[in-house]
Order: sequence, then C-alpha cells, then structure tokens
Amino acid sequence: MDRQTRIAIVGAGLGGMTLAGFLQRAGFAVTVYEQAPAFSRIGAGIILSANVMKVLRRLGLEQLIIEHGIKAASYISRAWDTGETMYRIEFDAASEVRFGGPYLNIHRGDLHAVLEKGLVPGSIAFNHRLMALDETSEAIRLVFDNGTRVDADIVVGADGVNSKVREFLLGPDPPRFIGAAAHRAIFPTTALRGLQIPDCTKWWGRDRHLLVYFMTSRRDEVYVIGVAPRRSWEHDGPSVPNSRAELIEDFAGFHADLHRVLEVTTDVSIWPIFDRERCDNWSGGRIVLLGDACHPMRPYMAGGGAMAIEDATILSRCLVQFDEPTEVYRWYEATRVDRVGAVQRISIENSWMRGPTDTDWFYCYDPCVAPLTRPA
Ligand SMILES: Cc1cc2nc3c(=O)[nH]c(=O)nc-3n(C[C@H](O)[C@H](O)[C@H](O)COP(=O)(O)OP(=O)(O)OC[C@H]3O[C@@H](n4cnc5c(N)ncnc54)[C@H](O)[C@@H]3O)c2cc1C
Repeated sequence: MDRQTRIAIVGAGLGGMTLAGFLQRAGFAVTVYEQAPAFSRIGAGIILSANVMKVLRRLGLEQLIIEHGIKAASYISRAWDTGETMYRIEFDAASEVRFGGPYLNIHRGDLHAVLEKGLVPGSIAFNHRLMALDETSEAIRLVFDNGTRVDADIVVGADGVNSKVREFLLGPDPPRFIGAAAHRAIFPTTALRGLQIPDCTKWWGRDRHLLVYFMTSRRDEVYVIGVAPRRSWEHDGPSVPNSRAELIEDFAGFHADLHRVLEVTTDVSIWPIFDRERCDNWSGGRIVLLGDACHPMRPYMAGGGAMAIEDATILSRCLVQFDEPTEVYRWYEATRVDRVGAVQRISIENSWMRGPTDTDWFYCYDPCVAPLTRPA
C-alpha cells in the first residue's frame, strides 16, 4: 500500500500500539488516538506467551519486556480441594528453543510503557475519545470529543470490547456479561512473610478458578486473579473496589496453600467479564477491526491480548504487501479467523492447560513470518 495512505488507529491498547509500531517501521506516518489522558499503572498483570514474545522481539522490545517482567520457570495447574498437580509445564532454555521465546508475566502498566517506547515520540494522541465516523467516497472523518476532526483513508478500530468503531461498522450491539467477574489484587511479596510460592499457579475449581503469579524478575510483586460466578453486574465503569473478605469467601473451601496467599492480599478490586458471540465480519469500506473490538474473549487462556497483538502483526503485513484495502482485509481475515476462533472456543471451555495439553500450535506460532492465508 502507498506509504502516503492516511491510517488512523483508534485505541492505544496492546493491539493498536503493536500495529502502529510495525507500520511506522514500514514507513507509514500513523497516529494512534486514545481516549485516556495518559497511561496509568492499573492493578493487573498479563501473561505473554512465546507467540507474543516473537512479535515484541521484532519491534526491538523483547529485552525491555524481560527486564520489567519475569520469565516464569514453570506453570502449574492444581486441583482446588486436594491441591493435586493436574498439569505442569517447565519453561527453560529447551522450551525457549522449542517455542521460540519465553513465557513471561508482567504488570500491564509496564507492558504499556514498553510498547509506547517502541513508537515514534508523540504518535499517541491522548485525550481523544472517538465519538463518530463519517465515511465518504473520498475519506473517512473521525470526530473526537475534544472537537478535533481528522480525515483518514483507513480507520483501524483497536478500541477494545466497547468499540465505537465496531458500532459504526456493524451497528449497536453491547457486549454480553458472561455471568462472572474477576477479583484482582497486587501486593508485595514481603506480605507472604517467607512463604515460598511457584512463579505461576492456576487453581481449578468446579465453576471458578484463580491464578497466582509473580510479575517481576525480582519476584517482589504478586498478582492474584480469581474468577467466580456473579448473577449480574450493576456498576458503571470497568471495575469497583472490593474486599479481601469477599475474595476469600468466593474461594472458601479451596486448598490451604491458596488461602495462605489470599489472606495477605490488599487493594482487591473486581472486574466484570464481557465477551461476544463469534462474528467473523471484521471489516468494510474504510474500516477494519482488530483485537477485542472484533473478538473479545473470556480471559481463561491468557489469549485475548495475544490475539490482539497477533492480529496487529498480520494486519501490518497485509497493509504493507497489498495495494487495495479490500484485498488487505480479505487476506487479514482469512489468515486470522480460524486461529482466533480456536482460542475463543478454548477460552469458553476453560480447558487450556487444565491437564496434558498440546501447546505447540499456540506457542510455536510466529505471526511475523507465518504464511498468509489466501482468501477463498
Ligand atoms: C481479567 C482479565 C485478565 C486478562 N488476562 C490476560 C492475559 O493474561 N493474557 C492475555 O493475552 N490477555 C488477557 N486478557 C485479555 C486482554 O486484556 C485483552 O484481550 C486485550 O487487552 C485486548 O487488546 P486490545 O488492543 O484489543 O484492546 P485494549 O487493550 O482493551 O485497548 C483498547 C484501547 O482503546 C481505548 N478506547 C476505547 N474506546 C475508545 C474511543 N472511543 N476512542 C479512543 N480510544 C478508545 C481504550 O482506552 C484502550 O486503551 C485479560 C482480560 C481480562 C478482562
């Protein structure tokens, strides 16, 4: 595609920043429009598997990410009541060779800061909340809440689960509350008073689960995310504070090894979980979607962010390789839809690494070099 093509990216999340990084390296002048006034270090961790680390390596960010996060030595699945180990995978030099990269846990705020470092300074326009799009045969106009208007040739909707760009493309259709919410807490390791915990453990209950992992290589910060059923969600906004007592109550009866950790949690908040029915229509006219904007999924496989980053990588390759937007979109969708559909299905089942699991198809994948799929 002509490098003068005006590409506007809405949303400076994981997908939007990855796409901007690749397009800037390919010679496009892109701006990312973000509603937030700045990035904040909100209380959450994220797991990045080898398929994502290969992308960050191509952006020159792998070393920085490794410095901020922790290369987990292992992942362990344990039964909620007996504590029995149901599955265990070691991450070592051999697995890094096999998968092509490490398995890394990191604070989301630190990940955002590193992704921002991969962009030309000033290429994120903060305080720009997209309100409307106006498409003509000549261009597409973006209208922001601060009064700014911008014309572009292509708009990429990387604006997450409540995507405004998606609404413009497909019509209003709010995401569905899945009947569960995630308790999240971050606390210093010193609170454990010497209790030793592995780098990453998932505790599996019948209708709920909980992950505990370190987020830094110094192992000085612990993240807990526990998902439990909730009949409804009445609050506005992405989260509300809640109490350690409520977290402990939701996981009553779980193994004592877990409760020793839950008893020292602080700053607990609770986040509703939303997803959507699978919909493989991700583009039209001058608009294309990526990540949660087109396929938000349950966070049970640690795959949603990974899919956004992979989407961005494949979309950037299609924008570089093909001339016509329709051709770009068809190759992009043909390459992505089956893989994203598989991750979405496994996330709904909540079966990933519960027991012996073939992880190669997910971790060995390299979106920077994987063949693009010819559209039907
Ligand atoms: C509890 C929980 C735990 C998770 N854990 C993991 C994990 O361990 N590993 C993993 O891979 N994934 C995980 N995920 C999923 C992951 O967080 C998402 O899939 C991922 O962030 C999607 O990236 P994105 O770029 O599509 O959207 P986002 O990262 O959501 O970014 C969207 C951006 O768009 C901006 N925006 C929204 N509307 C507008 C607008 N109108 N105008 C301008 N800007 C706008 C937002 O402010 C935001 O910055 C988890 C999700 C949840 C809920």
